[in-house]
Amino acid sequence: MSTPAPTDQAASWERARRVVPRGVSSGHRVGWSQVFVRAEGAYVWDQEGNRYTDYLNAWGPIVLGHCDRRVNEAVLASANTCDLTGVGPQPGEMALAEKIVEVMPSADKVAFCTSGTDAAMHAVHVARAATGRRKVLKFHGSYHGWSDHVAVGSSRKDLTAGSPLNTPNGGGLHPEVVADVVVTEWNDEAGLRQAFVDHGDELAVAFTEGYVHSFGCVPAQPGFLELLRELCTAHGTVMVMDEIKTGFRAAIGGYQSICGVTPDLTAFGKAVANGYALAGLAGSDALMGHLGAYSRSEATLDGTYNAAPYSIAAALRTLEIMESDDIFTTLHERGEQMRTGIQKAIDELGAPATVTGLGSEWCVYFRTELPRNFREAMESDAEMYARYHGSLLAQGVMEPAFATGDRRLNASTTADDVDHTLEAVRVALRAAVA
Ligand code: PLP
Repeated sequence: MSTPAPTDQAASWERARRVVPRGVSSGHRVGWSQVFVRAEGAYVWDQEGNRYTDYLNAWGPIVLGHCDRRVNEAVLASANTCDLTGVGPQPGEMALAEKIVEVMPSADKVAFCTSGTDAAMHAVHVARAATGRRKVLKFHGSYHGWSDHVAVGSSRKDLTAGSPLNTPNGGGLHPEVVADVVVTEWNDEAGLRQAFVDHGDELAVAFTEGYVHSFGCVPAQPGFLELLRELCTAHGTVMVMDEIKTGFRAAIGGYQSICGVTPDLTAFGKAVANGYALAGLAGSDALMGHLGAYSRSEATLDGTYNAAPYSIAAALRTLEIMESDDIFTTLHERGEQMRTGIQKAIDELGAPATVTGLGSEWCVYFRTELPRNFREAMESDAEMYARYHGSLLAQGVMEPAFATGDRRLNASTTADDVDHTLEAVRVALRAAVA
């Protein structure tokens, strides 16, 4: 018999903690006293009936709006037609792969999996199979999921001066795998060049976010991505762009279609299916050809739920709506309205803060200069942010619970929603600096 749901949120958290470690199944879900039970369009409701405008959007997937009926109908139709995943290709899978090949510059072929962690792990396997090398290069602070190959150098706990950049993000990672990860600072050209001088011929793969979202919103300085591209080509290293946050959100073709730097492989996920679990790896014919069938030297991409028909149906419908509704224009306009409004509020108050971002996303840093790397981003004043966040929440605006979390709106967010949020931001900024 199931336990009746309590209406009291503190009691719900207590109930959760009795049976789920920390009460949640993913780390970033801690830091709240609310329990959320309903979502629609731009809004979410907690168990006590309070409504919030949602600027987390599940850390990226919700791009059209919550519980989009058009997507849900496509999912239901698929679920009621064919739920087969165990044999052969599926029509939806072919159609979605064809669409991604059409829109994403780096994609000749696409393979689907279920999470960004999967996609990044498979990228490492493909790169190692293709190059016969072991080492992985990544940038300090950038998060690419929890596989041992990349879960290094992005923990907020390890930023004390002098700590090595390639500290594992958590316990249980294999020390030898971690030792193969080379971590260098984002936007440090000299450091990047040196990493290739020291390890270039051993590097199977170099991971980058096109536009960093792992510690807020931190763009590459002009020429930095181009330099990485050049070094990867010169050293025979596979360049992977992690578009798990930017793919199907910054533009339908991902950030690579904006910045003009084409990686060898792309990991994507999140917004592609508006909240349904779908991710994938895209790349050149030659590289994707290393996804062989059970040969010892080739990589393998297998999974019971890979290309699950209901997730594929969600993605096909999501991409269709992205184009028919021209949602990127809406996302960029609203994002710009938000960033401009926040900057104006900061300037009027003279608050020690800055705001930046891309398209539908932004981050407010409580420091006076925009950060260029992880360490600088983490200098954002956490106490001021806590007061800012608490004030926003009390006014019905939901943003990440920690200072360097990126935030984003979805295409259902109206210009009025943004204006109301900007009023709340003015109050929250005053609370932050008080
Ligand atoms: N890469 C980036 C840039 C991410 O932001 C995330 C998740 O937040 C991941 C990879 C991991 O994706 P997933 O949570 O689907 O495993």
